Amino acid sequence: MSPAARHEIFARLQAADPDPRTELEYTDPFQLLVAVVLSAQATDKSVNLATPALFRDAPTPQAMLALGVTGLSAYIRSIGLFNTKARNLIETCRILIERFDGQVPAEREALESLPGVGRKTANVILNVAFGEATIAVDTHIFRVANRLGLAPGRTPLEVEQKLLQVVPEPFRRHAHHWLILHGRYVCTARRPNCQSCILVDLCEYDQKTGIAAKSERRRSTQRTARARPRTRRRKK
Ligand code: SF4
Repeated sequence: MSPAARHEIFARLQAADPDPRTELEYTDPFQLLVAVVLSAQATDKSVNLATPALFRDAPTPQAMLALGVTGLSAYIRSIGLFNTKARNLIETCRILIERFDGQVPAEREALESLPGVGRKTANVILNVAFGEATIAVDTHIFRVANRLGLAPGRTPLEVEQKLLQVVPEPFRRHAHHWLILHGRYVCTARRPNCQSCILVDLCEYDQKTGIAAKSERRRSTQRTARARPRTRRRKK
């Protein structure tokens, strides 16, 4: 894919959504960290249903630690893997208080030292809470980057590294959200909505849905129109 095509992709995504945001609800970096940890292998929607009560009753690492694993589990049991996530979050609260003065650290290494926080979660926190131009490659970004031909790769890390090389600088800060939202709502896993995709003419995916049939219909209509004998207007 050419640099001009990459630039055009992000220019269109930006024009459609100038200020993209995470769909997770939170009010500070600690709550964002909790929400992102809870969202692993779960939908943002399911997390947003559980967190208002949790953040109301335990808005800080100190208050969440006081809940203990059993108390925290009661708030998040509608979310997948809640037992493991509760254990990790309680341990995270303990570490934040003991080593980071109750604050979420703004460095990758420190973030990745927290239980349940891997590279992807650290990238989200660095991007959303601290404004860094990181790109957290989740299943949506992995799929969209490969289909578009924007940054093809076999692993999330390979795609992340390619994206960091090829996304034009003015778009790096928000590239993460544009690609996630495009994957979530347009370029979906089973049946991408290519007919309504604003990137369709730039996309290199060879199995676009609906496009072949639509073009074939258009070609066939044109053939029929050409074959149809012209009727002359009668002179009055
Ligand atoms: S044209 Fe289809 S495959 Fe390509 S990015 Fe758009 S929705 Fe995805």
